Amino acid sequence: MQLGVIGLGTMGANLARNAASRGVAVSVYNRSAEKTDAFMERYAHEGSFSACASLKELCASLKPERVILLMVQAGPAVDAVLDELGEYLQEGDIVIDGGNSHYRDTERREQTLAKRGLRFIGMGVSGGEEGALKGPSMMPGGDEAATKKILPMLQLMAADDGMGGKCVSYIGPGGAGHFVKMVHNGIEYAVMQLIAEAYDLLRHSGRDNATIADAFAQWNASPRDTSFLLEITEKIFRTRDTLTGKDLIDVIDDAAGQKGTGKWTTEAAMHYGFAIPTINAAVDARILSGSRISREGWSKVPVEADQTAGVADTESIGDALSLSSLIAYMQGLTLIATASQAEGWNLRLEDIARIWRGGCIIRSALLSVLQDAYSDGKQAEKGMSEVHRRLSHGAQQSWRNVVASGVTAGVPLPAMTASLAFLDGMRSPRLPQSLIQAQRDFFGAHGFSRRDQSGVHHGPWAGAC
Ligand code: NAP
Repeated sequence: MQLGVIGLGTMGANLARNAASRGVAVSVYNRSAEKTDAFMERYAHEGSFSACASLKELCASLKPERVILLMVQAGPAVDAVLDELGEYLQEGDIVIDGGNSHYRDTERREQTLAKRGLRFIGMGVSGGEEGALKGPSMMPGGDEAATKKILPMLQLMAADDGMGGKCVSYIGPGGAGHFVKMVHNGIEYAVMQLIAEAYDLLRHSGRDNATIADAFAQWNASPRDTSFLLEITEKIFRTRDTLTGKDLIDVIDDAAGQKGTGKWTTEAAMHYGFAIPTINAAVDARILSGSRISREGWSKVPVEADQTAGVADTESIGDALSLSSLIAYMQGLTLIATASQAEGWNLRLEDIARIWRGGCIIRSALLSVLQDAYSDGKQAEKGMSEVHRRLSHGAQQSWRNVVASGVTAGVPLPAMTASLAFLDGMRSPRLPQSLIQAQRDFFGAHGFSRRDQSGVHHGPWAGAC
């Protein structure tokens, strides 16, 4: 097996090493040659690598039907590389874009390359630096026959799913692979924000970092909730700053950045008309954290909150975190189902939940519940009943108490609150949007639907004022 890798940044270098460690002969190329040299110096002994100084050389080093993985910055860089690469490729060659490209760009690129007989796969990759090296979760979409051809290699490289399978599967046509990766990242934003809110509650009640680390360790030890993000969070609270000797978390600035996949997820949800308030809240929370000047102005507003309140117990905060996270995963997966229907992708949620169970950043025990919930036939009832069981049995009451205590104490809990409001909105037999219908008809003659008759109706508003 041969593979060409373009882009030896964090992900490209580690995926190249991963492939080589499984016996794949890997040709590598990077725009700045120093990176290629440094790569070869450090890792050439690990496997069969050929360093290439140009895209032409890279293509010449591979046998047709070439397989080339692009791991460059998403956006114009991908188009620039594809333009040049196209000159040296032949009909039947396969190009995989493993970066975080927008799914509409992927669709456009697949169509453009297909006109020249080139096969294109838009593949989401999750797992960060370590996952790329040891076994990521991979979400290839686009050309199905081309994906089937390279699947054996991807299976060698992917993480185990914990059930005897691998965390890679053909996702669907067009931009489906990148769409699913984008929503994966949206869920990642939400769960990270929810964990940060749990931290804020624990900190607010006066717990020190060691005690906070213990709380995360306790939650992560529970078979109900164990996850990669809880695991790394415990480690973060136990890490010291090498410069000052203080706890590292206390010297890190509180403004979080983002590269765009969270925002794209919220845009897609608006486009397809499915509500994902927890993910939206997480994107907003990052934007708010970075609004330095505005935050300074707002910091002068007097606080009228009971700042002694909010001392929720660790178990209740754990319940609130667990249920809010379950809702965030369900929002993401339902957005995928909604887009799948609109685009005719025929995506399999059960399989998507399965390939997220290992290797990726959002791997969590919750995914086994969701895999069951979205499986076919009898299993579906069993899976959904497990979701309902989790949402009741006292944990829901704890969740409500935690959110209420945060509001009373003035601790911002945008994502936990959004998850709870989503649950209450979705389960409510009668929403107040009857009033919204009436208001729209009152001022704009938009009409309303009635509970007792079909058709569009108008109210006798004239003279009501
Ligand atoms: P990175 O470390 O910043 O490396 C970026 C790579 O892109 C470098 O090799 C760079 O080459 C190359 N590049 C940038 N502009 C280029 C251009 N115009 N032409 C040719 N090459 C160009 O990035 P990364 O973290 O490996 O990420 C690569 C892709 O994977 C991105 O789409 C990212 O969103 C996605 N991703 C990242 C992670 C993660 O945890 N980091 C996880 C999943 C997916 P030079 O060395 O010459 O600058």
